[in-house]
This record gives sequence, structure tokens and C-alpha cells, in this order.
Amino acid sequence: MPFSSRLSKLEPFEVMEILSRAKEMERRGEEVIHLEIGEPDFPTPEPVVEEAVKALRGGDTHYTEAQGIPELREEIAEKYYELLKVEVSPNEVTITGGVSQGLNFILAAIIERRSEAVITDPAYPCYSGMIKFYGGKVKKVALLEEKNYSLDIEELQKSVSKDTSLILLNSPSNPTGTYLSKRELKQVVEIAEDYNAYVLCDEIYSGLVYDRQRTPSLLETGYEKAVVLDGFSKLYAMTGWRLGYIVTEKKLTSQVVKLQQNFYISASSFAQRAAIVALNLREEVEAMKREFDMRRELILSKLEKLRGFKTNYPRAAYYVFPGYSYDMSSRALAEYLLEKARVALTPGRGFGERGEYHLRFSYANSRENIEIAMERIKDAIEEL
Ligand code: PLP
Repeated sequence: MPFSSRLSKLEPFEVMEILSRAKEMERRGEEVIHLEIGEPDFPTPEPVVEEAVKALRGGDTHYTEAQGIPELREEIAEKYYELLKVEVSPNEVTITGGVSQGLNFILAAIIERRSEAVITDPAYPCYSGMIKFYGGKVKKVALLEEKNYSLDIEELQKSVSKDTSLILLNSPSNPTGTYLSKRELKQVVEIAEDYNAYVLCDEIYSGLVYDRQRTPSLLETGYEKAVVLDGFSKLYAMTGWRLGYIVTEKKLTSQVVKLQQNFYISASSFAQRAAIVALNLREEVEAMKREFDMRRELILSKLEKLRGFKTNYPRAAYYVFPGYSYDMSSRALAEYLLEKARVALTPGRGFGERGEYHLRFSYANSRENIEIAMERIKDAIEEL
């Protein structure tokens, strides 16, 4: 066999498939509006770019400590205190090449063959693939659509067993745009405690919330086996910089550092320098958030009037995850809308079984484009 059996556990990332179809249409000269992409359309704020250039010119072009430069780890720890009054030691922070890499490290460190990891349904598609890649078994717990996609705590309780090594949460959530309250996070921890399981919360959208400065963090529960992932991609429009971080207790951190040393050596040196500036931005971040908020209101007002669609109310990130009543799979409907309306959307099925008959709309696009896209979708829907 030419490739490892591990690889068969990974499925193609559906959003990328739609994106490549859309690109193909664009190459043929057709104009497509992208509401499938999960990244900010804003450029990285200028002070961050300037700091990176300064670092490059100043010779900051070498490997760093595997765990990440102390100045950035200190800054991250300080921000947890400033925003949440949670004490984090810089020694409990590891800088990674994006949250994706952090996730990979944690799963590599925790998942054994046949150990169980609980995720939500719907959830960010990469979770289940990565868990299976490491030989783990995936168990799913519903997000209750009728309750604005809140976590079904009773079902979680039933899904956890002595074989559970990890409960993996994502708050705020991609694709639903909803987030867990402090109370819900505590309830999850209480369940995990009984089985001595880790709880990991991917908080990559923590700052992109519209009714407060940031969302509650799993770190606020004080749970010993808590792991938080966060990063710079979303809030600071830095997806291409590939920078994120892990916050967890020292023993797991030392294992993560060992993985970093062996697999990647370190995260990018000049990106780490620039990230210190990013963490201290105020105006630029607020301006991006205000714009996202206006887009959110706009897309919601259009979705509410779209025949056959029923939308949830997102309070964070830049996604809406409406369900629809047409007898078409989410893949088929996304393909239809791409061809007919020239709007790219992400089929909900890629996020789990409960994601079927849903589409993910990303409003990381201009208000003008959202207006046009929603008008074209409305016309295409009329013809169904
Ligand atoms: N986690 C979630 C929930 C995401 O939506 C994404 C990107 O869309 C990532 C992680 C990847 O983050 P990064 O760019 O930091 O690797």
C-alpha cells in the first residue's frame, strides 16, 4: 500500500472543494461572491505589518525557543489577567503555527488508539478527522438548534465514559456563531472531572463577539485538565501568518514543547514579534468588529426573509448557520446556488450529520457584496 492507513481517516475539507469549484468558474470569467470562506477580508492592521518588517530588518529571522518567545508568552498571560482576571503563567503558554498546529499537538499528546473523544455535532470539520487520524474514536453530542445551538448537557453526560480522554469544545462555534456561557463550561468540567478527562476549548473566535469584549473562557473554570487554544488568525486578520497558542498546565505543556521541538522547531520568529503588537491593538480591532457586526445585522435581516430558510441568532464569529426546508442535500443546494446565483456557500453536512439541510454563510465579505449575494440567492430560491 503506497500510503499509510492513517490517511484514509481524513476526508477532504468540503469548504475547500466548493472554493476550488468557485475558482474554476472565476477562471472561466464568471464573477462569484464568496460567502464560504472562513477568514477576514480585511488586511492585517498596519502596525502589525510594520512590526514584522522591523523585526525582519532587525535580523529576527532565526528559530526561536520551541515554546515561543518569552515576551509574547508574557503578553498573552497578561491579557488573560486583564480581560478575565485569570492567572496564567507564561510557562503554561506555547506558541504554535496556528490553532491548527496546537490542536494537532494536543491530540498527538492525548489520544491513544481507541480512546474516545467527544465533540459536538455540528462542529469544525477538522476535529473528527484529526482525532481518527490518531486512532481515537469520535463521539458526538448535539448542539440544540431549537435552543440557538446550545450544548445538550444531558446528552454529554450520557456520552462520556471511562474510555473518554477528551471533550473537545469550540466556543464561539464555527459554524453556528454561538458561544458557551461560564455556567455551561462549568457543567462540562463537572462531567469531565468524574472521568479525569481533558477538556479542550478552541477559543479562536473569543474576541470576535458582538455583545461583550470577549467570550467566557474554559480557563475561568480553574479545571486542572483544561486546555485552551486561541490565535491571531481571526480577530487580527492574520490567517496567513500562521500563529496561535496553547494554554494548559505544565505537564502537558512540556509534552507539547517536545512535540514542537521534534516536528516544527518553533513558530515563525518575526510573526511572534508582530503578534505582541497585535495583542495591544484597540481601535483597529474595534473598527473591524463594528463592521462585522453591521454585516451580521444585514445578513440576518436578509435570511429572515428568505423563503424556506430558518436562521439562528449568531452572537460571535462571522458565521450564520440557517436550516432550510428544501428536499436537497446541503451539497446539492450549495452547488445549485453556486451555479445559479454565483454565490459560494459551505454545505452544512461537512460539519456533521446534524449539519445536513443547513448552509453556512460567512459574512467575512463587504456589505455591498452581501446585499448582491442575498438578492441573487433569493432569485435562485424562487425557482426551486
Ligand atoms: N479552529 C476553528 C474553529 C476554525 O474555524 C479555524 C479556521 O477556520 C481554525 C481553528 C484554524 O485556525 P488557524 O488559522 O489558527 O490554524
